[in-house]
Amino acid sequence: MKRIGVIGGGQLAWMMGDAAKKLGVELVVQTPSSHDPAVSIAQDVILAPVDDAIATEILAAKTDVITFENEFVNLDVLSFLEHQGVCFRPRLAALVPLLDKYHQRCYLQDLGLPVPRFFALNQQENLASKIEHLGFPVVLKSRRHGYDGQGTFIIKDLATLQQQLNSDNTKNLSQSQFLIEEFVPFERELAVIAARSVAGEVVTYPVVETQQEQQVCRRVIAPADITTDQAAEIEAIAHTLLNSLQVVGVFGIELFLTPTGQVLVNEIAPRTHNSGHFSLDACETSQFEQHLRAVCGLPLGNPALLCTSAVMVNLLGYEISTSDYQSQRQKLAEIPQAYVYWYGKTESRPGRKLGHVTVLLNHQHREAISAIARTIESIWYGN
Ligand code: ADP
Repeated sequence: MKRIGVIGGGQLAWMMGDAAKKLGVELVVQTPSSHDPAVSIAQDVILAPVDDAIATEILAAKTDVITFENEFVNLDVLSFLEHQGVCFRPRLAALVPLLDKYHQRCYLQDLGLPVPRFFALNQQENLASKIEHLGFPVVLKSRRHGYDGQGTFIIKDLATLQQQLNSDNTKNLSQSQFLIEEFVPFERELAVIAARSVAGEVVTYPVVETQQEQQVCRRVIAPADITTDQAAEIEAIAHTLLNSLQVVGVFGIELFLTPTGQVLVNEIAPRTHNSGHFSLDACETSQFEQHLRAVCGLPLGNPALLCTSAVMVNLLGYEISTSDYQSQRQKLAEIPQAYVYWYGKTESRPGRKLGHVTVLLNHQHREAISAIARTIESIWYGN
């Protein structure tokens, strides 16, 4: 495998650039705009939306294998290409149960994996009694195309639910495009990156703690401070899932840890994931190299940490601007053992992921780790 097609040209594809060089493979990227981050590292670019299957046919003609950095693709149309012999890794059948959050929850539950209680929203008449069974608050989620908390709403009562369903955000969608699940009063959120090779070997990265604000990931701490049993349970979940789907490539798995120590799976990302960015600097093999290794049919690399711990902080947009924030980035780079990544997006908007910083540490003191995260955020957000 020499030429890899990547559907999507955001930061996740951009961060494959160094790994591709290291492995001696070329990346051809299908992405809508010439300003997208991965355009700068691609050997060739097809300017088209990620769900444009005609463009993907052109991508297939230029490459040996196609992978995804964005899963919002049109599987029905792509399966036509797969039937014609185009090699997708992961294969399309591995994505089928995952792209709709309701189907994903059903798939996980059928595998016997622990998930929050949930149901699909269809007949309004049953709503009150069905929700009574879960108890408020509940979480309303759009079944498709949600990311960074877009399409996830925490709902405190029936009136708020009706209001939300009639709001500008949701009124263009029918009720059948939503699911409802119990609100999990989690003690912490966790995540794990797992990879599976063509030969069926599975490796998992250290389980991390993720911290979200307004449903968007702000910080990741590796490794998470959990028990050996909890880590083993999460690794077992990853093995079950990747083997059952016969995935080739990297997956991100987001989880809740409840106050009683129970682990529940929240969401599966069928690609590299924000919770694995620390691996670029903190692990022997980054998640991006690992993904390309798997996709190219190579043996997997060692995912072990090279340091005692690491903290990753997302640099989220907080204004509309075209600034490149050079002076803030310079200050961040002066933090000892800090690695600053800037995705090169031409426009900043509130909540947009513009870059991240990872700091490597030789200790695991929670207070000191939090202090470093606060230092980064005060340099970035200016308070
Ligand atoms: P997205 O696909 O947009 O990332 P998620 O389902 O991962 O949406 O939800 C984003 C965040 O919202 C989670 O990380 C968590 O903080 C919160 N959240 C989602 N579902 C629940 C739930 N059932 N209970 C409590 N918090 C939740």
